[in-house]
Amino acid sequence: MTGSDALAELRSRAAELDAADPLAWCRAEFAGGVRAYLDGNSLGRPVRAAGPALADLVDGSWGTRLIRSWDEQWFEMPLVLGDRLGASVLGAAPGQTVVADSTTVMLYKLLRAAVGAAPRGRDVVVADRENFPTDRYVVDGVAAEAGLTVRWIDPDPAAGVTADDVAAALGPDVAVVLLSHVSYKSGFVADLAAVTELAHSHGALVLWDLCHSAGVLDVQLDAAGVDLAVGCTYKFLCGGPGAPAFGYVARRLQGAIVQPIPGWMGHADPFAMGLHYTPAAGMRRFISGTPPILGMVPLAEAIGLIERVGIVPIRDKSILLGRFVIDAADRLLAGRGVRVVSPRDDERRGGHVTLAHPGFREVVARLWELDVVPDFRNPDGIRLGLAPLSTSFAEALDAVATIAEVLP
Ligand SMILES: *Cc1c(COP(=O)(O)O)cnc(C)c1O
Repeated sequence: MTGSDALAELRSRAAELDAADPLAWCRAEFAGGVRAYLDGNSLGRPVRAAGPALADLVDGSWGTRLIRSWDEQWFEMPLVLGDRLGASVLGAAPGQTVVADSTTVMLYKLLRAAVGAAPRGRDVVVADRENFPTDRYVVDGVAAEAGLTVRWIDPDPAAGVTADDVAAALGPDVAVVLLSHVSYKSGFVADLAAVTELAHSHGALVLWDLCHSAGVLDVQLDAAGVDLAVGCTYKFLCGGPGAPAFGYVARRLQGAIVQPIPGWMGHADPFAMGLHYTPAAGMRRFISGTPPILGMVPLAEAIGLIERVGIVPIRDKSILLGRFVIDAADRLLAGRGVRVVSPRDDERRGGHVTLAHPGFREVVARLWELDVVPDFRNPDGIRLGLAPLSTSFAEALDAVATIAEVLP
């Protein structure tokens, strides 16, 4: 079969898949326009409802109600949105999730709290060298501050951290295991339930970074008995640039760990302006300062769309998109020296597909000029982020076909 036959066949498959896609209607819910956007794992597209909701804020809750809006809605917003995220994407019962801070800061707070609660003799944090930079830097920082050592796992970059890797690193000296659920590079999905159980069997806590899984995988934090989790809201959750993070603390731990940035907004009675800090009951104590309301307004609208669709159909489409893109890459790019880095096993692959070729830095620059937008990851990777709510099969194919076109 020639390349153009293969492309014609892939085009008709894409058309069939789009016609059969139960989530196809969601594309019209997004604002703006682009020829092919394959970076929803880095910055999700805005939902159309975000614009009117921001305008309403300026004219209404901010412009007209002004400071009264703190009592009327804003004070509770980090917890209300947290609970909505918990119910719709995290598998978390109410009262365990809060929206606040950046991921980096929330990660610091929860990791510091977790190591602070570790009994004497548990002075090791297990983490991996393939994790996102911020996670590695925060681990090093917390370890230095709290007098712990870090036991680094060096996973197979194409596979990711396995339960066996974690088992080999565990021991009676481990306080906390920090891992990403989905690798930001390869898209590998770690076995969240198995690793959590394993860590618990050694008496350690687990802290999961869900940046690349929240909004695209069916995460079940409560069912897996997870202790702590953090994640971004501007990737698959479409909260917008700089939208705040979320933090999850299992109810059983909320009174047992102490977060390191006590602030007035996490106080039991903020407006008493008391002399000393008394933490609020429940998740409010994990809030430090004034919540970023502006950054939560588009997020609330995006969560609304996810609530209408449900996370299971979102994951189903994510798997189909991944399979289709891998098949297209095999047929259009493999003969040109491009490798598929992401797992081929649907269960072990998250919401993006990573391809590798030494020429990709230049290829991505050319793609962006053509309004085809994936991202480049050092040294030779293209990540194709497949956002099930906003990415069509035709759009995903357009990206792969355009890579074939511009590849030298
Ligand atoms: C995107 C990402 C972050 C980003 O942290 P910010 O504080 O929001 O910049 C952190 N960790 C992981 C694993 C990520 O993928």
